[in-house]
Amino acid sequence: YLDVEAITKHFGDTCVAHGVGFSLEQGEIGALLGPSGCGKTTLLRMIAGFEEPDGGSIHLHGNPLWKGGRGLSAEDRKIGMVFQDYALFPHLTVWENIAFGMKNVSRAEIKETIEELLAVTGLAGVEKRYPHELSGGQQQRVALARAIAPKPRCLLMDEPFSNLDVTLRESLSAEVREIIKRFGITALMVTHNQHEAFAMADRIGVMMAGRILQWDTPEGLYHHPENLSVARFIGEGS
Ligand code: ATP
Repeated sequence: YLDVEAITKHFGDTCVAHGVGFSLEQGEIGALLGPSGCGKTTLLRMIAGFEEPDGGSIHLHGNPLWKGGRGLSAEDRKIGMVFQDYALFPHLTVWENIAFGMKNVSRAEIKETIEELLAVTGLAGVEKRYPHELSGGQQQRVALARAIAPKPRCLLMDEPFSNLDVTLRESLSAEVREIIKRFGITALMVTHNQHEAFAMADRIGVMMAGRILQWDTPEGLYHHPENLSVARFIGEGS
Protein backbone atom coordinates (compact mmCIF):
# COMPACT_ATOMS: atom_id res chain seq x y z
CA TYR A 1 0.00 0.00 0.00
CA LEU A 2 2.78 2.44 0.94
CA ASP A 3 5.80 1.14 -0.95
CA VAL A 4 9.15 2.86 -0.61
CA GLU A 5 11.87 1.39 -2.83
CA ALA A 6 15.61 2.03 -3.05
CA ILE A 7 15.42 5.68 -2.03
CA THR A 8 18.71 7.55 -2.09
CA LYS A 9 19.32 11.12 -0.94
CA HIS A 10 22.38 13.32 -0.45
CA PHE A 11 22.81 16.74 1.09
CA GLY A 12 26.11 17.83 -0.47
CA ASP A 13 28.59 15.06 0.37
CA THR A 14 26.42 13.60 3.13
CA CYS A 15 24.33 10.59 2.20
CA VAL A 16 21.17 10.50 4.38
CA ALA A 17 19.45 7.61 2.52
CA HIS A 18 21.42 4.69 1.05
CA GLY A 19 18.76 2.87 -0.99
CA VAL A 20 16.09 2.72 1.69
CA GLY A 21 13.01 0.53 1.22
CA PHE A 22 10.03 -0.72 3.18
CA SER A 23 6.30 -1.39 2.75
CA LEU A 24 3.18 -0.89 4.82
CA GLU A 25 -0.10 -2.71 4.26
CA GLN A 26 -3.30 -0.67 4.18
CA GLY A 27 -4.36 0.21 7.73
CA GLU A 28 -0.98 -0.56 9.27
CA ILE A 29 0.96 1.84 11.47
CA GLY A 30 4.71 2.01 10.85
CA ALA A 31 7.47 3.72 12.80
CA LEU A 32 10.93 4.81 11.73
CA LEU A 33 13.01 4.58 14.89
CA GLY A 34 16.56 5.79 15.21
CA PRO A 35 18.96 8.28 16.77
CA SER A 36 19.06 11.97 15.92
CA GLY A 37 20.49 12.66 12.47
CA CYS A 38 19.99 9.16 11.01
CA GLY A 39 17.72 10.50 8.25
CA LYS A 40 14.22 9.69 9.56
CA THR A 41 12.74 13.14 9.05
CA THR A 42 14.24 13.49 5.58
CA LEU A 43 12.66 10.16 4.56
CA LEU A 44 9.27 11.30 5.90
CA ARG A 45 9.62 14.63 4.06
CA MET A 46 10.37 12.80 0.80
CA ILE A 47 7.16 10.76 1.20
CA ALA A 48 5.24 13.96 1.99
CA GLY A 49 6.66 15.69 -1.10
CA PHE A 50 8.62 18.41 0.73
CA GLU A 51 11.96 17.02 -0.38
CA GLU A 52 13.03 15.26 -3.63
CA PRO A 53 14.87 11.91 -3.56
CA ASP A 54 17.97 11.48 -5.77
CA GLY A 55 16.79 8.01 -6.81
CA GLY A 56 14.26 5.27 -6.07
CA SER A 57 10.48 5.25 -6.05
CA ILE A 58 7.55 5.82 -3.69
CA HIS A 59 4.05 4.44 -4.36
CA LEU A 60 0.87 4.95 -2.37
CA HIS A 61 -2.19 2.83 -3.12
CA GLY A 62 -0.53 1.83 -6.41
CA ASN A 63 -0.04 5.46 -7.53
CA PRO A 64 3.50 6.77 -8.01
CA LEU A 65 4.24 9.67 -5.64
CA TRP A 66 7.81 9.66 -6.91
CA LYS A 67 9.23 7.63 -9.81
CA GLY A 68 11.90 8.15 -12.45
CA GLY A 69 12.91 11.52 -11.00
CA ARG A 70 9.38 12.98 -11.13
CA GLY A 71 6.71 13.27 -8.51
CA LEU A 72 3.28 14.51 -7.50
CA SER A 73 3.10 17.83 -5.68
CA ALA A 74 2.63 17.63 -1.90
CA GLU A 75 -1.01 18.81 -2.31
CA ASP A 76 -1.85 15.99 -4.73
CA ARG A 77 -0.48 13.16 -2.59
CA LYS A 78 -3.52 12.73 -0.31
CA ILE A 79 -1.26 12.65 2.72
CA GLY A 80 -2.00 14.09 6.18
CA MET A 81 0.79 15.46 8.37
CA VAL A 82 1.17 15.90 12.11
CA PHE A 83 4.21 17.91 13.17
CA GLN A 84 6.20 18.03 16.39
CA ASP A 85 5.18 21.65 17.07
CA TYR A 86 1.49 21.01 16.10
CA ALA A 87 1.57 23.90 13.58
CA LEU A 88 -2.07 24.90 14.25
CA PHE A 89 -3.44 28.11 12.75
CA PRO A 90 -3.42 30.52 15.74
CA HIS A 91 -6.19 32.79 14.39
CA LEU A 92 -8.62 29.90 13.74
CA THR A 93 -10.77 28.11 16.33
CA VAL A 94 -10.45 24.37 16.98
CA TRP A 95 -13.44 23.74 14.70
CA GLU A 96 -12.00 25.93 11.92
CA ASN A 97 -8.58 24.31 12.26
CA ILE A 98 -10.07 20.83 11.84
CA ALA A 99 -12.30 21.92 8.91
CA PHE A 100 -9.41 23.68 7.13
CA GLY A 101 -8.34 20.90 4.74
CA MET A 102 -11.82 19.54 3.98
CA LYS A 103 -12.33 20.53 0.36
CA ASN A 104 -15.22 19.59 -1.96
CA VAL A 105 -17.24 18.20 0.93
CA SER A 106 -20.83 19.16 1.81
CA ARG A 107 -21.49 21.23 4.95
CA ALA A 108 -23.44 18.33 6.42
CA GLU A 109 -20.52 15.96 5.92
CA ILE A 110 -18.06 18.47 7.39
CA LYS A 111 -20.27 18.79 10.48
CA GLU A 112 -20.68 15.04 10.87
CA THR A 113 -16.94 14.31 10.46
CA ILE A 114 -15.87 17.07 12.85
CA GLU A 115 -18.37 16.04 15.50
CA GLU A 116 -17.13 12.45 15.33
CA LEU A 117 -13.49 13.59 15.53
CA LEU A 118 -14.22 15.90 18.47
CA ALA A 119 -15.89 13.00 20.29
CA VAL A 120 -13.13 10.43 19.71
CA THR A 121 -10.32 12.88 20.50
CA GLY A 122 -12.01 14.09 23.70
CA LEU A 123 -12.22 17.64 22.36
CA ALA A 124 -16.01 18.06 22.45
CA GLY A 125 -16.74 21.35 24.24
CA VAL A 126 -13.55 23.17 23.24
CA GLU A 127 -14.33 23.57 19.54
CA LYS A 128 -14.85 27.35 19.82
CA ARG A 129 -11.52 27.95 21.57
CA TYR A 130 -8.31 29.15 19.94
CA PRO A 131 -5.08 27.09 20.04
CA HIS A 132 -3.46 29.30 22.74
CA GLU A 133 -6.39 28.46 25.06
CA LEU A 134 -5.56 24.72 24.93
CA SER A 135 -3.04 22.46 26.70
CA GLY A 136 -0.21 20.86 24.72
CA GLY A 137 -2.01 17.50 24.68
CA GLN A 138 -5.23 19.13 23.43
CA GLN A 139 -3.31 20.99 20.72
CA GLN A 140 -1.77 17.73 19.53
CA ARG A 141 -5.24 16.13 19.40
CA VAL A 142 -6.47 19.04 17.26
CA ALA A 143 -3.47 18.55 14.97
CA LEU A 144 -4.36 14.87 14.65
CA ALA A 145 -8.05 15.61 14.00
CA ARG A 146 -7.09 18.21 11.39
CA ALA A 147 -4.83 15.72 9.61
CA ILE A 148 -7.49 12.96 9.63
CA ALA A 149 -10.50 15.12 8.65
CA PRO A 150 -9.80 15.22 4.87
CA LYS A 151 -9.57 11.38 4.94
CA PRO A 152 -5.97 11.08 3.71
CA ARG A 153 -4.66 7.86 2.19
CA CYS A 154 -1.72 8.03 4.56
CA LEU A 155 -0.92 9.94 7.74
CA LEU A 156 2.67 10.98 8.48
CA MET A 157 3.71 12.02 11.98
CA ASP A 158 7.06 13.59 12.85
CA GLU A 159 7.92 13.12 16.55
CA PRO A 160 4.27 13.83 17.40
CA PHE A 161 4.64 13.58 21.18
CA SER A 162 8.09 15.00 21.82
CA ASN A 163 6.80 18.32 23.20
CA LEU A 164 4.61 16.60 25.81
CA ASP A 165 5.51 15.39 29.28
CA VAL A 166 6.25 11.70 29.83
CA THR A 167 2.93 10.61 31.36
CA LEU A 168 0.87 12.39 28.75
CA ARG A 169 3.10 11.01 26.02
CA GLU A 170 2.40 7.44 27.13
CA SER A 171 -1.36 7.79 27.43
CA LEU A 172 -1.66 9.83 24.24
CA SER A 173 0.35 7.37 22.13
CA ALA A 174 -2.04 4.53 23.03
CA GLU A 175 -5.02 6.81 22.39
CA VAL A 176 -3.71 8.03 19.04
CA ARG A 177 -3.12 4.42 17.94
CA GLU A 178 -6.76 3.64 18.72
CA ILE A 179 -8.03 6.67 16.82
CA ILE A 180 -5.91 5.87 13.75
CA LYS A 181 -7.10 2.25 13.82
CA ARG A 182 -10.72 3.32 14.21
CA PHE A 183 -10.50 5.43 11.06
CA GLY A 184 -8.58 2.65 9.25
CA ILE A 185 -5.77 5.00 8.27
CA THR A 186 -2.33 3.86 7.12
CA ALA A 187 0.21 5.83 9.15
CA LEU A 188 3.96 6.28 9.42
CA MET A 189 5.64 8.03 12.32
CA VAL A 190 9.18 9.12 13.02
CA THR A 191 10.54 8.87 16.53
CA HIS A 192 13.76 8.44 18.50
CA ASN A 193 11.69 7.05 21.38
CA GLN A 194 11.59 3.27 21.46
CA HIS A 195 8.66 3.06 23.90
CA GLU A 196 6.58 5.23 21.61
CA ALA A 197 7.42 3.12 18.55
CA PHE A 198 6.58 -0.12 20.37
CA ALA A 199 3.33 1.32 21.79
CA MET A 200 2.12 2.66 18.46
CA ALA A 201 3.41 0.62 15.55
CA ASP A 202 2.62 -2.67 13.80
CA ARG A 203 5.95 -2.44 11.93
CA ILE A 204 9.13 -0.69 13.00
CA GLY A 205 12.19 0.22 10.95
CA VAL A 206 15.35 0.64 12.99
CA MET A 207 17.31 3.34 11.19
CA MET A 208 20.95 4.26 11.48
CA ALA A 209 23.11 6.49 9.29
CA GLY A 210 20.72 6.53 6.34
CA ARG A 211 19.90 2.81 6.38
CA ILE A 212 17.01 0.73 7.70
CA LEU A 213 18.84 -2.06 9.53
CA GLN A 214 15.69 -4.11 10.15
CA TRP A 215 12.03 -3.63 9.21
CA ASP A 216 9.95 -5.91 11.37
CA THR A 217 7.11 -6.31 13.86
CA PRO A 218 7.84 -5.14 17.45
CA GLU A 219 8.00 -8.81 18.51
CA GLY A 220 10.39 -9.65 15.66
CA LEU A 221 12.73 -6.82 16.60
CA TYR A 222 12.65 -7.67 20.26
CA HIS A 223 13.08 -11.44 19.97
CA HIS A 224 15.00 -11.78 16.70
CA PRO A 225 17.23 -8.77 16.09
CA GLU A 226 19.02 -9.41 12.78
CA ASN A 227 22.33 -7.92 13.80
CA LEU A 228 24.29 -6.57 16.73
CA SER A 229 23.51 -2.90 16.04
CA VAL A 230 19.76 -3.56 16.23
CA ALA A 231 20.16 -5.73 19.35
CA ARG A 232 22.22 -2.99 21.02
CA PHE A 233 19.86 -0.21 20.04
CA ILE A 234 16.79 -2.10 21.27
CA GLY A 235 18.66 -3.20 24.41
CA GLU A 236 19.74 0.35 25.29
CA GLY A 237 16.27 1.79 24.98
CA SER A 238 14.45 -0.71 27.19
P1 ATP B 1 16.34 14.33 14.15
O1 ATP B 1 15.61 13.31 14.97
O2 ATP B 1 17.43 15.04 14.90
O3 ATP B 1 15.45 15.25 13.38
P2 ATP B 1 16.64 12.68 11.84
O4 ATP B 1 16.99 11.26 12.00
O5 ATP B 1 15.22 12.99 11.55
O6 ATP B 1 17.16 13.49 13.07
P3 ATP B 1 17.23 14.21 9.49
O7 ATP B 1 16.55 15.43 10.02
O8 ATP B 1 16.58 13.47 8.39
O9 ATP B 1 17.57 13.20 10.66
O10 ATP B 1 18.69 14.64 9.04
C1 ATP B 1 19.65 13.71 8.54
C2 ATP B 1 20.94 14.45 8.21
O11 ATP B 1 20.73 15.32 7.11
C3 ATP B 1 21.46 15.32 9.35
O12 ATP B 1 22.85 15.19 9.38
C4 ATP B 1 21.04 16.72 8.95
O13 ATP B 1 21.95 17.66 9.46
C5 ATP B 1 21.09 16.65 7.44
N1 ATP B 1 20.10 17.55 6.80
C6 ATP B 1 18.76 17.51 6.97
N2 ATP B 1 18.14 18.44 6.20
C7 ATP B 1 19.13 19.09 5.52
C8 ATP B 1 19.16 20.15 4.57
N3 ATP B 1 18.03 20.73 4.13
N4 ATP B 1 20.35 20.55 4.10
C9 ATP B 1 21.50 19.95 4.51
N5 ATP B 1 21.56 18.94 5.41
C10 ATP B 1 20.40 18.52 5.91
